[in-house]
Amino acid sequence: MQRPPLPSPELPPLLAGSARTVVTGGAGFIGSHLAAELLRRGHCVHVVDDLSTGALDNLGEIAGHPRFSFTVGSAADPATARAMCRDADMVFHLAGVVGVRRLADEPLDVMQRNLRCCEVTLDAAAAARVPVLLTSSSEVYGDGPVPFREGDPVRPGATEGLRGGYACAKAMAEWLAFGHAAQSGLAVVVARLFNTVGPRQSGDHGMVLPRFVRQAVANDAITVYGSGAQTRCFAHVGEVARALVDLAVAPGVRGSVVNVGSGAETTVRDLAHLVKAVAGSGSHVVHVPFDAVFPAGFVDPPRRLPSLERLRRAIGWVPAKPVAAIVAELVALERRGVLLPAERR
Ligand code: UDP
Repeated sequence: MQRPPLPSPELPPLLAGSARTVVTGGAGFIGSHLAAELLRRGHCVHVVDDLSTGALDNLGEIAGHPRFSFTVGSAADPATARAMCRDADMVFHLAGVVGVRRLADEPLDVMQRNLRCCEVTLDAAAAARVPVLLTSSSEVYGDGPVPFREGDPVRPGATEGLRGGYACAKAMAEWLAFGHAAQSGLAVVVARLFNTVGPRQSGDHGMVLPRFVRQAVANDAITVYGSGAQTRCFAHVGEVARALVDLAVAPGVRGSVVNVGSGAETTVRDLAHLVKAVAGSGSHVVHVPFDAVFPAGFVDPPRRLPSLERLRRAIGWVPAKPVAAIVAELVALERRGVLLPAERR
């Protein structure tokens, strides 16, 4: 599909003024930070979350806010999706099952639930003519050459390697969104999220940084999968939430895909040693073969680095909080026992 070059100032933003926003998955890690950011900017926020992955205690800081409301329900349920769109000015669609561990353990559930949730939400938003910011994932780039550019072909890989099913569901959701845009004029922007870290992220489903922080503070072995030469770029969730709202209010982004993340690449091995040093930990850094942890055919992308040209052009800045500062923040929270709310430790 041909998309307009960015930015095209004549295209109006998805969100203007003080608006009634919906955040699906708003009780999740990124969703709860996004909800707080929208409230800070003066919007009304209606969170729709079935609490299957998210948790009420993620909303502790904002639950009592006068412009906040909450529905326990799934955006994959057509009646719930229609109801949430009825009085909305914009939907931020974040609901979904995340985590490489979960994908390895329940691949069918993860693929079906993620695709269905996007399909139903997009149908409802298109019918109600409500703009959508659809969050997608850097997983769609697979193990392609870096830096990953939005116009690159997606690379979910072979169907026998189940990891690609997650990527494929995300890519299909993007195509559905652009299909709605083409057929009914749905205003949509796709944000492809790269590795995002910060307070309230659980390590239970694989995410590396909360796991390393917990291991270091407990003086347990820090488990690097494989050689540790694989790279990722870690963005702070507060910056990611700001970037998502900035994208929603930016002119010229409709009908586009935009990478959202940090451009600072680090190896997993260096991350492990950084966490150990910042925590002043006596932990050993141990290497665990990747295939001892994940099923056969699971590919760990060797490098993941976004091109952030579009994001910078669209919003004028990119997430840049140094990973050392993020690690220091998370180690301090873990020491105080508040990296995750108490109920979920
Ligand atoms: N990883 C690791 N040790 C862990 C968890 C993850 O070495 O305990 C590695 C994982 O193999 C990957 C990177 O850290 O190379 C990031 O993993 P995560 O699950 O956080 O995100 P991904 O980028 O794989 O989606």
